[in-house]
Amino acid sequence: MPDPRGATAQRSRMVNGLVLRADWRSQLPAKVAVRDRVSAWVDHYPTVSEVVGDLRGGEFRKVFWERPRTRAEQLWERRPSQERVRATLIERRVLIAGVAVVALFVTADAQFGAALSDRPLAPGEAQRVAIAYPPQIQQNPQSVRPMLDAIAAGEKRREAAVVAAAARATLERAKAEAAAAASGEWQDWMGERAPVVPGVLTPGSTPSTGGFSLPAKGAFTSGFGSRWGTMHRGIDIAAPIGSPIYAVADGTVIEAGPAQGFGLWVRIRHDDGTISVYGHMYDFFVSQGERVPAGMQIARIGNRGDSTGPHLHFEIVQNNQHVDPQVWLAMHGLRLT
Ligand SMILES: [Zn+2]
Repeated sequence: MPDPRGATAQRSRMVNGLVLRADWRSQLPAKVAVRDRVSAWVDHYPTVSEVVGDLRGGEFRKVFWERPRTRAEQLWERRPSQERVRATLIERRVLIAGVAVVALFVTADAQFGAALSDRPLAPGEAQRVAIAYPPQIQQNPQSVRPMLDAIAAGEKRREAAVVAAAARATLERAKAEAAAAASGEWQDWMGERAPVVPGVLTPGSTPSTGGFSLPAKGAFTSGFGSRWGTMHRGIDIAAPIGSPIYAVADGTVIEAGPAQGFGLWVRIRHDDGTISVYGHMYDFFVSQGERVPAGMQIARIGNRGDSTGPHLHFEIVQNNQHVDPQVWLAMHGLRLT
């Protein structure tokens, strides 16, 4: 059988492994003019020319109702089968999963909700504001900041000075007592009277009236209420580390151990339901469930947790609400000095 392209094949050239025939130029598809292409397209979709004709003829019902309906029915007939859809989903599963993951990340980053507006808010109306990270919020205006800082610094200095003075006084007294003992002078702690043992009630050790006792003896350094822009939910009594802390009334220990911010804390529920809280202590001598009488030493003053110097942080909670411990103590005939 004669090969009509035999002579051409003989002259074929190899370009990077691809066989190019010598007459490849003549094999290219003929160029088609744009005009011809458009007319071919119009011929392929007869509806286009028909629609134009119908519109000219005023056949609007045909154009806007009948033909679209027929077309929709045709499309519905040609809809892919369930098997085909399922097969496509399986075939494209990697792509679909990728798109889903991207969508997830995009939505996680997006800010939903209405955009912020400048209009003044009605009373009681809130507006959600997206904040930068880290939050660049100033609680107090810049102008009053230095004054507040100065007040806070002064208060801290005063507290530190009180604590230092108390510590010095204790040291001086201990030195004097040691010197006196060394010189043979009789001392309180040398006999007859039992030494103070932690956990043992020492009558008269602290001012108490009618079954109530001060929580500690020391310098009253901070009251209940707003302080340095935060709420101070108790009172502070500064005293050297190791000074005794007393149960303010008869009650049962409901917690004794570490607590966030308090370092260590002890909580006592008293017989009328009031709860007293003692914080920052150096150590404690009671345990959960233990019954304690008013005036019993339960702990020693320390400087643990969020504390800037040795002191007792003391709180009173009534009906789940913090009340001013100073007022509560005064109601029971006790006055802080
Ligand atoms: Zn405090």
